[in-house]
Amino acid sequence: MDPLIIYNTLTRRKEPFKPLHAPHVGMYVCGPTVYGDAHLGHARPAITFDLLFRYLKHLGYKVRYVRNITDVGHLEHDADEGEDKIAKKARLEQLEPMEVVQYYTLRYHHAMEALNVLPPSIEPHASGHIIEQIELVKQILANGYAYESQGSVYFDVEKYNKEHRYGILSGRNIEDMLKTTRALDGTEEKRNPIDFALWKCAQPEHIMRWPSPWSNGFPGWHCECTAMGRKYLGNHFDIHGGGMDLIFPHHECEIAQAVASQGDEMVHYWMHNNMITINGQKMGKSLGNFITLDQFFTGDHASLTQAYAPMTIRFFILQAHYRSTVDFSNEALQAAEKGLARLMEAYSHLQKIQPAATSSVAVKELRAKCYEAMNDDLNSPIVISHLFDAARAINAAKDGKATLSAADLQELKETFHLFLFEILGMKDEAAAGGNSYEAFGKAVDLLLAIRQQAKANKDWATSDKIRNELTALGFKIKDTKEGAEWTLG
Ligand code: ZN
Repeated sequence: MDPLIIYNTLTRRKEPFKPLHAPHVGMYVCGPTVYGDAHLGHARPAITFDLLFRYLKHLGYKVRYVRNITDVGHLEHDADEGEDKIAKKARLEQLEPMEVVQYYTLRYHHAMEALNVLPPSIEPHASGHIIEQIELVKQILANGYAYESQGSVYFDVEKYNKEHRYGILSGRNIEDMLKTTRALDGTEEKRNPIDFALWKCAQPEHIMRWPSPWSNGFPGWHCECTAMGRKYLGNHFDIHGGGMDLIFPHHECEIAQAVASQGDEMVHYWMHNNMITINGQKMGKSLGNFITLDQFFTGDHASLTQAYAPMTIRFFILQAHYRSTVDFSNEALQAAEKGLARLMEAYSHLQKIQPAATSSVAVKELRAKCYEAMNDDLNSPIVISHLFDAARAINAAKDGKATLSAADLQELKETFHLFLFEILGMKDEAAAGGNSYEAFGKAVDLLLAIRQQAKANKDWATSDKIRNELTALGFKIKDTKEGAEWTLG
């Protein structure tokens, strides 16, 4: 079999995957900042690296997958300035910041489980690794690549760039960065506006703070991934992943921190998934197209025409290659829903097909073709297209228009199961009780349709009974020209 080839953002080319310590593989993916509900932007890296995690394990590697929880030091505007997002939420809702962290971490886990994303091997919190981050800052200071200023510590980008290259991952160069980076309020502490914070002295109103040799404060955002990656995966590890939006400044700064502290780069392969747009637009709270995963699952958002099962979302994301953009629309999601249903149906037909003496369709190459696609930088859309071809053959055999031998049937069952369920990570939601939100909504729709029928028959007793009982349960029923609409609560 061909080796697995992956695209390395650092070298800008596809490379054969060679782990540093096979069969062990170390993989680090930047996880969520837990101050709000998970949305599509969280689903894509989680599903992309879940696909990689599942496939590496299938290939026989022992994978240590670290995905962090960012719960300190992530500030608004940019990494160095503004208020901590978690602290702001805590202040607005009068909560202890760790209550915010706990609440959204649990909700994130719940959403990931619904998407059938396997939990990582280790899920470290930044707040639990302040000591390691302080240690990292001390090393960078000792090596002369950082300076202290009014209780904060900044990375000296210009000095670092004289000996190494700042911008190696993003392809940016320091002259352009200097032209486009303007000094913000409070940055007079920095020697240079492009320097980034390793440690920030906390303002009096800042709640999340820890003692350090420089001040009572908190680590710069980029420190956590360097410190925790090193702690759990060692000074050199295989894969570091995340969304493309993290290439600059986050991952660029991580590389600089690693080189400045230990003398060389920690990561062998940098991998980045592309972004998601909604109806062709970037997702954003101000654009009104910010849809959380829960809203997708319930259909409770003005832009959604229906609820979408978590597996529809997962399948839709996997229908695009992870380095391509994905545009969400109701039409595209409905197409994904139908496509997935076709594959699930074919898989269930497959169990009932009786073997024939010979095969009239070729199924031998299916497995090899699926592996070939996966090995080509995780080309999940091609795997899915092969599964659709197989579904056509299955349907033909079911309708008596094709035959499958016992050996081919077995091969087809194994390949279908392996790629659809184990590697792409789909699960049969109908078999698992269906999407409960969707079933719930459909049941209420059904009651209203019965009431509509009763009204048409002038059966006012039944019509009133349904309306009154639903109202008593907390539903608001609104009669419209087309029938009736309902809301809950
Ligand atoms: Zn990170």
